Amino acid sequence: MIASALLASILLMPQDRVRQELPNGAVYLVDKADTPGHVRVALSASFHGYPDEPATLGVRHLLEHLVVKGRDRALDRKLESQGLSLSAWTTRDALNVVISGPTGALPLAMASIDEVLNPGGFTQDEINKELRIMAEEKLLHAPDRPLVDAAWEAVYGQEGLSPFGDLEVLAKLTPSDLELARQRIFAPAGLSLVVLGDLDPGVARLRCQEVLGKLSGWEVSFDPRMEIAPGASPMGAQASGEARAVITAGVTVPMTLAMLGFALAQQREMPGTKVFYDASAWDSVIIWTAPNAGQFDALEKLTEEDVVRLAPFVRGQASQWALGLTTLDDTNAALRAKLLRQARTFDLGQLFDTARGLTDQEIVQAWQRWSGPKSYRVRGLK
Ligand SMILES: [Zn+2]
Repeated sequence: MIASALLASILLMPQDRVRQELPNGAVYLVDKADTPGHVRVALSASFHGYPDEPATLGVRHLLEHLVVKGRDRALDRKLESQGLSLSAWTTRDALNVVISGPTGALPLAMASIDEVLNPGGFTQDEINKELRIMAEEKLLHAPDRPLVDAAWEAVYGQEGLSPFGDLEVLAKLTPSDLELARQRIFAPAGLSLVVLGDLDPGVARLRCQEVLGKLSGWEVSFDPRMEIAPGASPMGAQASGEARAVITAGVTVPMTLAMLGFALAQQREMPGTKVFYDASAWDSVIIWTAPNAGQFDALEKLTEEDVVRLAPFVRGQASQWALGLTTLDDTNAALRAKLLRQARTFDLGQLFDTARGLTDQEIVQAWQRWSGPKSYRVRGLK
């Protein structure tokens, strides 16, 4: 009886959860999840198709603004009329588009992803109008954003520049420049698509194959960002306060959870500090900002005994963070799409156990990474 129940669950798994890489390199995952009547579709276009560099900075962000208008530039109204919502954002790692809504509107959601990928050419007027919107968006940036950007730059130099972009560079962009960039950014080998929720996996799978299978284009090389050794003097940022950053070898590695958990647990002792980590299975950074200069000196004053006393809180914070990634929202759907590209068989559910199992020794090492010469420093210049 038990054996046959087990066998049945194994046989059922591949039907509820389908993962496939297509011949053009695009990957998708269809996952039947327990969200009655609701589905979510997340598209992730890896930065590798079109890496940010000073001369092209912000092109991915501008493209994101434009493609979500769809082919007839009225995609938002069409989605709203069927109860769907769309969110899009661009990070250093990927251009993300997530559409969610009632199960019955899944065909429209998938057709909309198709429109996003094939929006038709954009005119110079459309580009200029969107650049004005981006200029307004820039005014809304959080005051600690320069600290975060400077930390990325301290670690990765020009490979870590803000994906928001340089509006002066973008002002020189022509429609044909943008079209060429679009082909690279949406090169199938850099795309991953996740369809989650209350759905028929067989039907969803066919739609994924339809939307992604017909794409062709540029090769994508998945070269990692190269880090710079921590400098002797801190990086300057046009903000008040300070920041620290540590390199992580990816969310799949226990030390990442230890460093994240340590910062989150120690935050209580350091009012106003904030921790930033865009989860990734690849090398990335965890950044910790503080509103006042000198706040991180407290880390150097801790002893190993202090850190061991803190260890249960570190485990608690790390496991809460891990648990947070398993809730089904737009951000996590985009993360799952990104991870599909980065670490195909990795299951986010494992992270909770990894966090619970962090050893005191790993947590002490995490503290040493934040406090020692391996951490990157940013000093606010305001
Ligand atoms: Zn924007």
